Amino acid sequence: MRFLSTRGQTEPMGFTEAVATGLAPDGGLLVPESMPRLTQADLDAWSRLDYRDLTAAVFGCFATDLSQEVIRGCVERAYSGFSHPEVAHVRRLADHLHVLELFHGPTLAFKDFALCLLGEFYELQQARTGVPVNVLGATSGDTGAAAIHGLLGRKGANIFILYPNGGVSPLQERQMTCTGAPNVFPLSIDGSFDDAQKIVKDIFGDLPFRHRHNLSAVNSINLARILAQVVYYFYAWFRLDDAARARGVEFVVPTGNFGNVLAGWWAQQMGLPVAGFTVATNQNDILHRFFEEGVYEVGAVSKSLAPSMDIQIASNFERYLYYMLDGDTDRVRRLMADFRATGRLAFPAEKEQGMRATRTDDAAIIDRIRTVHAEYGYAVDPHTACGFTGLRPDRTSVVLSTAHPAKFPDALERALGHIPTHPSLERLKALDPVTHRLPADEAAVKAFIVEHLK
Ligand SMILES: *Cc1c(COP(=O)(O)O)cnc(C)c1O
Repeated sequence: MRFLSTRGQTEPMGFTEAVATGLAPDGGLLVPESMPRLTQADLDAWSRLDYRDLTAAVFGCFATDLSQEVIRGCVERAYSGFSHPEVAHVRRLADHLHVLELFHGPTLAFKDFALCLLGEFYELQQARTGVPVNVLGATSGDTGAAAIHGLLGRKGANIFILYPNGGVSPLQERQMTCTGAPNVFPLSIDGSFDDAQKIVKDIFGDLPFRHRHNLSAVNSINLARILAQVVYYFYAWFRLDDAARARGVEFVVPTGNFGNVLAGWWAQQMGLPVAGFTVATNQNDILHRFFEEGVYEVGAVSKSLAPSMDIQIASNFERYLYYMLDGDTDRVRRLMADFRATGRLAFPAEKEQGMRATRTDDAAIIDRIRTVHAEYGYAVDPHTACGFTGLRPDRTSVVLSTAHPAKFPDALERALGHIPTHPSLERLKALDPVTHRLPADEAAVKAFIVEHLK
């Protein structure tokens, strides 16, 4: 299996190289040359696998330059820190309503599925090439914590994560700063998230510096991240009974950068008979407007109760565009150039992809947390809450739960008057944070990196 760039100006490459590359050199995103198609017999066989074996089976279709033993080893280690024996768990709330719990990893958010596995692939790469991996990124919360836990204590890897001082939740900060690992450097920046992100961008723009220190990005667009997320759509499907499937299964996905829902769509393209997808956005509704009006237009980001979905541009959207344009890379390239210039993309061809979108503002998030709890005795986090807006009554909905409610005590307190707890967060409260406070200044961050890579 080879992987191509959505912009068509990069030589096709194998899985290992695609994962090491991240963003294609032509600025596009990597996609499989063709989608593997499963037969009914394949699906029957996969339905009997546990989560780890299913992950190895999915990667076996794409990572054809790695042996099954190597893949299985990576998967085993990646998910050893998950607290639920099933890794991902489907919880039935009613016949027509299920929750896919994706928060049993080390940082209690679904990004652990991808980043724990990506950490394994980085280590393979490091062992093969002898070149250390030094990851640099900026975060407003979940991604940084999950990336840190994916690389925690790994040989030949270091991770530098910038975050705005006072701009991430106290629990998220603790997840980044209480690891005790010598290869983890959380950098608390005196500035906003945008300042932190700009510093990271500028450092990556300094190519000699970047190459001298082998810096790579915490990539929200890495191919392996999407593939790791394909797995749980299959897993959830296999756990539903015939009656639930017969109604038609709608996956409801709280969405920011569009990576998670794209993974579900890939599962469908591989042959999983999903009826449809709901793209659930918060008040930052660029994707909702796109699915309603066919216009993809950047607005200002407004801070919401579901901060990991506060995005302006959905970085994985380009992959979806590629499929909607039937793989016409010249058109993708032209449209993305227009989009960069104007901040707007009016979508040319209407093509039914079985997707629809919903929007949930902060007041509605609080209301959803309350009503779900009142009706089912189940507490959801503010991101997952967005998935309970406008459920289709004619289908079986599977709402992806992207984070554990205990990560967001303020919203839960407001909605329910009490705060759910989780043992791993309670443990964190007893540990000493280690962070490095720096001015919002590129030179200061570079000096820190040089000093600590010695
Ligand atoms: C990252 C994140 C999302 C959004 O996922 P995308 O793949 O960016 O669409 C939703 N919920 C939580 C808790 C997250 O951390």
